[in-house]
Amino acid sequence: MKIYADNAATTNITPEILDVMMTCLRDNYGNPSSIYTLGMNALRAIERAREQCARAIGAKTNEIYFTGCGTEADNWAVKETARRLRRTKGKTGIITTNFEHHAILHTCEALEKEGFEITYLPVDSEGYISADDVKNAITDITAIVTIMYANNEIGTILPIAEIGKVCREKGVVFHTDAVQAVGNVSINVVEQHIDMMSVSGHKLHAPKGVGFLYSKNGLTLDRFIHGGAQERGRRAGTENTAGIVALGEAMTIACNGIEERAAKVAVLRDKLIRELSKIPASRLNGGMNSRLPGNVNMSFIGIEGESLLLNLDIAGISASSGSACTSGSLDPSHVLLALGLPHEIAHGSLRLSINEYNTEEEIDYIIETVPKVVAKIRAMSPLWEELGNGNSFERFAPLLSPLE
Ligand SMILES: *Cc1c(COP(=O)(O)O)cnc(C)c1O
Repeated sequence: MKIYADNAATTNITPEILDVMMTCLRDNYGNPSSIYTLGMNALRAIERAREQCARAIGAKTNEIYFTGCGTEADNWAVKETARRLRRTKGKTGIITTNFEHHAILHTCEALEKEGFEITYLPVDSEGYISADDVKNAITDITAIVTIMYANNEIGTILPIAEIGKVCREKGVVFHTDAVQAVGNVSINVVEQHIDMMSVSGHKLHAPKGVGFLYSKNGLTLDRFIHGGAQERGRRAGTENTAGIVALGEAMTIACNGIEERAAKVAVLRDKLIRELSKIPASRLNGGMNSRLPGNVNMSFIGIEGESLLLNLDIAGISASSGSACTSGSLDPSHVLLALGLPHEIAHGSLRLSINEYNTEEEIDYIIETVPKVVAKIRAMSPLWEELGNGNSFERFAPLLSPLE
């Protein structure tokens, strides 16, 4: 059996989106900046996709700016807003959380070197923050608040509408990285007081290499990539027409029937969590109050995430430990550390991110396979042995399920 359970890392391109994209690649090859019909057709296709993206989030068409990826949208929003507000209003403060995606965290680190002051709000042990936490952190120097909509590793969904309201009241720009949230929760940027929002195509069954930044009208958005006049002079470079067309289609599909789809996926998620929690000395990472329908994140003490993934791969299961962007490094996930977990627990984590294409049969196979793999690795694990095969980890006990 081959099971793909890493949809938070990327998704497959669905046949209907691939179809739209291939037709565009083949027929709509004109340069959208050219004035003859072939060019105009490409431009029209882009503007139609812009409309689709806008409609899906309750925005206006001219508030959507296509980018090369979600990371670029994050960089653009935070860097250019912070720099502009320092230049025009002397504001040097940025507020974010300690469990953002690296697209935000590393952007903030870069801005710190430019002299900005970054406040990293700590999330609680379940991976939540409140609008009050944000309100209390805002000061006279705050230029922008950037807080993710839903976390890519542990799936917690933050109270974005409330945070947006607080920022609006305080007159601070509010950006959210909604890459994981789009298609899983209903988003309306007007009702939720969102000023800027990042979206990525490849998390929504569109291809890699395309995304967009929503930036509310009335907010100045400075040019990010210099060159030609594309994206109303703000993001130069000949457009990725086929990618953009695919993203428009993907947004329309992803933002339709969210509740039904989410309810269906959540049933599978809950079954996975219920059954995998029976593994001794395990824990669920991230709370259940408000969680992405497809996210399961578990830790198993005495296990290295890497060996777990390799063994699952042999069994035909594609999963992840932490985020795709940090695998390859041996550092434990910054998200799990942000929950206050010790390294011993943060290291042995497994993220399964499922969606509506996963079947009940696949879920049952995962439930059958993971405990076997965990037992096999533990039998060879020096850490597990050092912990007396699980008999002497009192210091971790409050964080873990019982041994029996
Ligand atoms: C995947 C992801 C990104 C990066 O998007 P790319 O299009 O891969 O650059 C940013 N933020 C979050 C929360 C993500 O999950």
